[in-house]
Amino acid sequence: MSAESLRAAIRDVVDFPKPGIVFKDITPILADGELFRESISLLCATTGGAKIDKVVGIDARGFIFAAAVADRLGAGFVPIRKKGKLPWKTRQTAYSLEYGESIVELHEDAVKPGESILLVDDLLATGGTAAAAVKLLDELGAKLVGISFVIELGFLGGRAKLAPHPVSAILAY
Ligand code: AMP
Repeated sequence: MSAESLRAAIRDVVDFPKPGIVFKDITPILADGELFRESISLLCATTGGAKIDKVVGIDARGFIFAAAVADRLGAGFVPIRKKGKLPWKTRQTAYSLEYGESIVELHEDAVKPGESILLVDDLLATGGTAAAAVKLLDELGAKLVGISFVIELGFLGGRAKLAPHPVSAILAY
């Protein structure tokens, strides 16, 4: 079992959700017990053994990986959600999408200053989503140990938006 087994399972869906986008469908990884476990092991390894207090996952596929990583590391799980979904007091930030803007939110008491955080999402594209998440975590005084993805679309250059935080991806395209 290796990262390449994960690559073989990822399904490219052309023109989804709109023309010109090749969507990386990770559901075949989730549906296979061994592949899913391997993806979580490889994400956990990106911490290099650093102590993590909380794993923060990004709405929605990021939740799946982040929650499993949190359980494996013995850490808490914190969701960053799209606007209007979190019930308590939130901190929010807007970010640009290909067309227009979106807003993500975090409960203002979800992360305490100085807590060691691993941020997880399924895929790094332009980096706008993860950069918005980093902004919220920075505002709360989190110690961001790393940002880990299953997939990085390197040709979009998203990693540059996340500097100086350490970025890891299991699979690069
Ligand atoms: P970005 O903000 O451009 O880095 O986009 C990253 C977010 O959009 C992640 O939460 C991904 O789940 C999703 N995303 C963007 N592009 C793709 C793609 N080609 N395949 C699957 N998910 C994508």
